[in-house]
Amino acid sequence: MNLASVEVSTSKPLAQGGKIQFPPYLTPIHFSEFTPESLRDLIAGRRLFLRGAAFVGQGLNKSLSRLGLPVEGFIDKSPRLRGRRLAGRPVFAPEDIFNQADLAEKIFVIMTSGYWEEEFRPELAAAGLIEGRDFISSFDLVPLNPSIDVAGVCNLHCQGCPRGNMDTHPPAGFMSAEVYAQVIEKLLREMPFLGEVQLYTWGEPLLNRELPQIIGHNKRRQVISIISTNLSLKTELVETMAEAKPEIVRVSCSGWGVNYEMTHTGGDWELFLKNLRRLSQLNRELRAGMEMEFYYHLYNHNSGEDYEKAKALAEELGYVFRPVKASLYPRENIVTLRQGQPLSLPAQRQLEIITEEARYLIAGDYDSDVESQCLENRTFSINWNLNVRICGVYYLPIVAKNFLETPILELVRLVAESETCIRCAACDAHCFIKPFTADQRLIKGN
Ligand code: SF4
Repeated sequence: MNLASVEVSTSKPLAQGGKIQFPPYLTPIHFSEFTPESLRDLIAGRRLFLRGAAFVGQGLNKSLSRLGLPVEGFIDKSPRLRGRRLAGRPVFAPEDIFNQADLAEKIFVIMTSGYWEEEFRPELAAAGLIEGRDFISSFDLVPLNPSIDVAGVCNLHCQGCPRGNMDTHPPAGFMSAEVYAQVIEKLLREMPFLGEVQLYTWGEPLLNRELPQIIGHNKRRQVISIISTNLSLKTELVETMAEAKPEIVRVSCSGWGVNYEMTHTGGDWELFLKNLRRLSQLNRELRAGMEMEFYYHLYNHNSGEDYEKAKALAEELGYVFRPVKASLYPRENIVTLRQGQPLSLPAQRQLEIITEEARYLIAGDYDSDVESQCLENRTFSINWNLNVRICGVYYLPIVAKNFLETPILELVRLVAESETCIRCAACDAHCFIKPFTADQRLIKGN
């Protein structure tokens, strides 16, 4: 890995009289100067479609609607979504839209999936569309994906998570709804096209008693709330969350019965099951419209009968079943391992039971593309106490103490200059996610 910096200018820093030095191992982040007005001019009366109907597309649909730029519909090849309406917009298959003559005169497209852009570009070009004129990327409008850890605590100590496998922990506490409102307002000032935000990273958001007000604030500002919960907690917390109607709720599971309790360390299987059913019931009864996703962490020991039972149950209850290979978090552990340093006992236990493939990727014993750029410097993580972390996959290093006092461009610069990134890239832990993500895509199928 050549760690020499290369200078990559970005339009907005230049406009502000500055430049950010992006090293070759990071994704250069371009802050465009799109405004609602200039985007409207570029669209020029054409029908506006979003290519990708997952949460990025749904978030952008929200923000464009907030800004007076109505979306005609989504374009997505997923059979699960075909023919459905999301947030009142129809989902079209690509062939329904792209097989028309003179397409560039009729439609404007925004690509709304960072992982699939490499596939989208040739598809859009084959349809006669030109990037910058007829289509753009969502990153041109929203360059960062923020997560706000509204709860700096968790009720479990899973061995694959820093809550269970790190010896040192950041300060514990909760973000108040009042502070949250200031955070989201600053985000919207600096990224006006922002349409969705994750309300978690390493904490359990349902433990925050002010979560309903936080979700309520997002609703008023037309920002989608994405929640991830272990559901192994008091049912009343699940009920309170459901009544607030967040748009996307992810639940995590890693086996059936005792297998679940081993890797969701400290969890209670019966309580999880009860809450899984209760959430599904509330979604129906309250007509909450929550998109419920069931993240199933695949290990060697839970990929047979456990997997089939969990999949059947999830689908019966209306969850979208998403199997993902269990890994080892946070990224500090990958760096420790690759530097030949000892891991904590829980981290070692995790390493022993993940799949061969996952272990191989973690160890880095493959021919990595050393020129790969990290995808994580687009993830933008704010702790409950306003500390800003280096990125979404690290647990401890922070680049700024107070998000409210630090412009986002400055935060991007601080990450680009960070020693943590240098150490991470020196053992190729910065591009670890790429093969892993590709692997997850294969598992997800669509
Ligand atoms: S610290 Fe995070 S942003 Fe920096 S190179 Fe590593 S994974 Fe990427």
